[in-house]
Amino acid sequence: MISMDNAQEGIHRQLSDDQWRQRLDANTYRICRQGGTEVAFSGCYWDTKTAGSYHCACCNALLFDSTAKFDSGTGWPSFHSPAATAQLSTHSDTSASMLREELRCATCDAHLGHIFGDGPPPTGQRYCINSAALQLIPATGSAGS
Ligand SMILES: [Zn+2]
Repeated sequence: MISMDNAQEGIHRQLSDDQWRQRLDANTYRICRQGGTEVAFSGCYWDTKTAGSYHCACCNALLFDSTAKFDSGTGWPSFHSPAATAQLSTHSDTSASMLREELRCATCDAHLGHIFGDGPPPTGQRYCINSAALQLIPATGSAGS
C-alpha cells in the first residue's frame, strides 16, 4: 500500500490543467492556476480571526499559521511570515507595470499571492494572499477561550 503522503504529492505534481479545472471551483481555478487576484474584501478569510492553520486550497499543504495573520486593511488575508515548515516558492512578477514577488505553493505550484516589504514586525514582510488559495483548518481544543 502506498503511503498517503507520497501518493498525494505525486498526484498533485502530475495533474494536468484540465484535471485542476475539474477539481477546483471556478474562482479557485482562476486564481491558483491562472494567477488571478480576487477582489479586495470579497474573499472568505480577509477578516477571519479564527485560530488555526491555513492550507493550500489545491493540495492541502500547510502554508500559514493564524498567529502570523494581521489586519493589513487591504481586504486580503495578510501574514507577516509563513508557517515554519511551509514549502513556498517565489517568482518575479512584472505584470501590472510593477515588479512584485509572486508567491506560490512549492508543492503544487499554485499561485497564492504576492510578498511586499511593508509588513509589521518581526519580519517586515507582508504576505498578501488570496482567500481562494487558502483553506482554514480551525485549531482544536481551544473552544471556550
Ligand atoms: Zn499547493
